[in-house]
Amino acid sequence: MVKIRAPRGTHDVLPAEAGRWEFLEETFKKICRLYNFGEIRTPMFEETELFVRGVGEESDIVKKEMYTFKDRGGRELALRPEGTAGIVRAYIERGLHNVPHPVKLYYCGPMFRYDRPQAGRQRQFYQMGIEVFGSREPACDVEVIEVTAHFFEELGLKDLQLHINSVGCRDCRPAYQEHLSRSCLENSDLLCDECRRRVSTNPLRILDCKLESCAEVMKGAPQIGAHLCSCCREHFEEVLALLGSLNRPYVLDEHLVRGLDYYTNTAFEFISTHLGAQNSLGGGGRYDNLVETCGGAPTPGVGMALGVERVLLAMEKGDLSPWTAAPEGAFLAFEGSGREKEELSMLYRIRRRGIRADRDYLKRSLKAKMKFANRNNFRYVLFYGEEEEKRRKIKIRDMSDGTEQEMTVEQAVAFLVDNSE
Ligand code: AMP
Repeated sequence: MVKIRAPRGTHDVLPAEAGRWEFLEETFKKICRLYNFGEIRTPMFEETELFVRGVGEESDIVKKEMYTFKDRGGRELALRPEGTAGIVRAYIERGLHNVPHPVKLYYCGPMFRYDRPQAGRQRQFYQMGIEVFGSREPACDVEVIEVTAHFFEELGLKDLQLHINSVGCRDCRPAYQEHLSRSCLENSDLLCDECRRRVSTNPLRILDCKLESCAEVMKGAPQIGAHLCSCCREHFEEVLALLGSLNRPYVLDEHLVRGLDYYTNTAFEFISTHLGAQNSLGGGGRYDNLVETCGGAPTPGVGMALGVERVLLAMEKGDLSPWTAAPEGAFLAFEGSGREKEELSMLYRIRRRGIRADRDYLKRSLKAKMKFANRNNFRYVLFYGEEEEKRRKIKIRDMSDGTEQEMTVEQAVAFLVDNSE
């Protein structure tokens, strides 16, 4: 029979790895709560039109990377390629615009893009992100950046650079795009095929083309900073001033435009200096027209998303493993079939007391049980055999130093409770 394999660009998180995923998610949630964000969970698929309108018809995501399908009722649906559009839809549809503002939300979940898989780039990947609706205050942009920075700091990730830019607004960006497009036309023969097409459709995206030849052409291109309207310039200057006042280092990066068309004003990315091509761990920015574009009342917004797989890669490179758990709990190694009932009774009893515990189900030898307990990170092994039965005592072995002591069942339960976290 032909082997069925996981679809290209997806991966399974096995129990040995799951701890780190849980750790990242817990840490992220803890920080979001500190900053007063509430969780939102939206569907993994939405009407395709939402992303066409929200993310932008000309974006790579909508043009080339969406998983779209028709359901049995003939609806045009898409697996979500990112989180913001669905949250904006929920914000409008579920009346979140009626609750006190700003509305601060966080989310975690898988996203889907038909991209070329490589290290740090999958077709199903896991994002964690935040959104703030209802304020244009530069302090909100800073809040989003600070949540992200706090999260990375909590993980122990160093060597990250915050790149930041302003991509202007609907008033000042068109004139800049015009300018940029004219300048690109002069050198269009030096651009890649994709960028040559972008000259007329989305010239901003040429700025962050990763090809050396395009980057070279763009070195001489007009900079957006010089073309911002006074409103955008003031906003950006205030964001930078606030970051300065918080001693948050940043790199002004006039070529940072990001792949989603909805950004206005601030755009930022946290770049790892250790990863190769896929070096952006997370990023985001302001999207003051998105709610309106998706059919709501004009509402400013700012957000960020980070990719868990890439964060894990960066942590691996930095040799960081804060999720490593110390051995804990008890493995029961009662000997002799006549003692099974006592073993089960104790097993369920200590679990009810909140202690992680397990036993053998494969009639292993005592030696094999010990090995199993060790591999499964148990701190204590509990023995009860013929000898112990004579004394009506349980023998507890501390696997961390090999010491053993005997005590009654009552005492053993109390001991385990006292010696657990
Ligand atoms: P974006 O939604 O494109 O702004 O991306 C935000 C973050 O999600 C990036 O910085 C990456 O960490 C992560 N990310 C985006 N696309 C992928 C992908 N195809 N595979 C893995 N992670 C991704």
